[in-house]
Amino acid sequence: MSNEIQQFRQPATDSSPRFEQDTRTDERQTGDAVLRLQNVTKRFGGATAVSGLDLTVRDGELLTLLGPSGCGKTTTLRMIAGLESPSEGRIRVGDTTVAGIDGFTSPENRDVGLVFQEFALFPHLTVAENIAFGLDGSDTERVEMLLDLVGLTGYGDRSPTDLSGGERQRVALARSLAPEPDVLLLDEPFSNLDVRLRVEMREEVRRILKETGVTAVSVTHDQEEAMSISDRVAVMYDGQLEQVDTPERVFQQPRSRFVASFLGHASFVSGRVDGDTVESGLGPISRASVDGLATQYDGTRVDVMLRPDDVVARPAREAEANGRAVHRRFLGPTVLYRVELDSGDTVGCMHNHDTEIPLNEPLRVELDVGHDLAWFPSDADRTADSE
Ligand code: ATP
Repeated sequence: MSNEIQQFRQPATDSSPRFEQDTRTDERQTGDAVLRLQNVTKRFGGATAVSGLDLTVRDGELLTLLGPSGCGKTTTLRMIAGLESPSEGRIRVGDTTVAGIDGFTSPENRDVGLVFQEFALFPHLTVAENIAFGLDGSDTERVEMLLDLVGLTGYGDRSPTDLSGGERQRVALARSLAPEPDVLLLDEPFSNLDVRLRVEMREEVRRILKETGVTAVSVTHDQEEAMSISDRVAVMYDGQLEQVDTPERVFQQPRSRFVASFLGHASFVSGRVDGDTVESGLGPISRASVDGLATQYDGTRVDVMLRPDDVVARPAREAEANGRAVHRRFLGPTVLYRVELDSGDTVGCMHNHDTEIPLNEPLRVELDVGHDLAWFPSDADRTADSE
């Protein structure tokens, strides 16, 4: 593991009071557990791909496994599907153990459906025949109902080869939903679609899953996709779960610097806890706006996490300036500036595209937040900005 990665990883298991009530798996969700992974580990030869995973997915929930390439997402999905068997641990679907010390249920005997990246439709069968494939006997009424559900009424007699990417994905989804699986697994379901269609299909797939009420687990390395479709996001790194929580909480209250940085741009501003404030290079930050900063941190240094929209910069006279923009990245609707503070910290600062901030000129940089800020115990050796 590289030094940079270790720096991110260390605070994940922070023993500070702020994390005492947090469980790595957010068990506050209600509803019956439909899928349960208990201490699941997968080794390939000497290499551990997935390590000690505990995860519960509840009835009707859409949970997304999110993480960088090689973190073990697909292996986890394949173990749930029965395409791989765990080296250790147990997987339960409903009340049935499908993998574990007491046995292994083959994929076709699990009530689990799988939507592949490439959709895997049979080109020699019609759309209706593809959908009916997993059903016992032909059930025309159900096929028609599914075509209607996925917005393809009247497409039953077509060949999948005559369909657009988005339409093929709808057919693949309908086919996987046809046998009414207890759990539907989606492996990078949008990766074969162009950017515009991807955004449209995210909404569509979520609508369809919610309409059927199926419990679903999806896999992606795209944080925007994970946050936009999921009820909960399970962030993985190096075979382990870093945090399982609602999209809002993983974004606003990340449990580790890795999660903070993977879920979007994150800057870390160093400050000293002093009474009701944290004294930082951006001036005093009200302690009340720093999420759960316990008294044990009085007098210590902490790193407050900031998103680019938490910070505003404006040109200022030298006397009141506290930083300079050193880099500008045009993103279309917005511009992301990298601002070096006089304190030595670097922060990302987002402005509307029509607001021009001069580079290398004195700036007054201030906080502009309406929510609690996440923080991490300070580590002088750690790099300050994740860009
Ligand atoms: P990606 O987003 O690139 O698909 P991932 O998060 O899905 O990545 P996995 O495919 O689960 O990651 O792989 C996790 C680790 O296990 C990787 O190091 C990978 O090389 C390894 N791995 C996966 N499948 C096998 C296999 N059949 N044999 C050996 N190693 C494997």
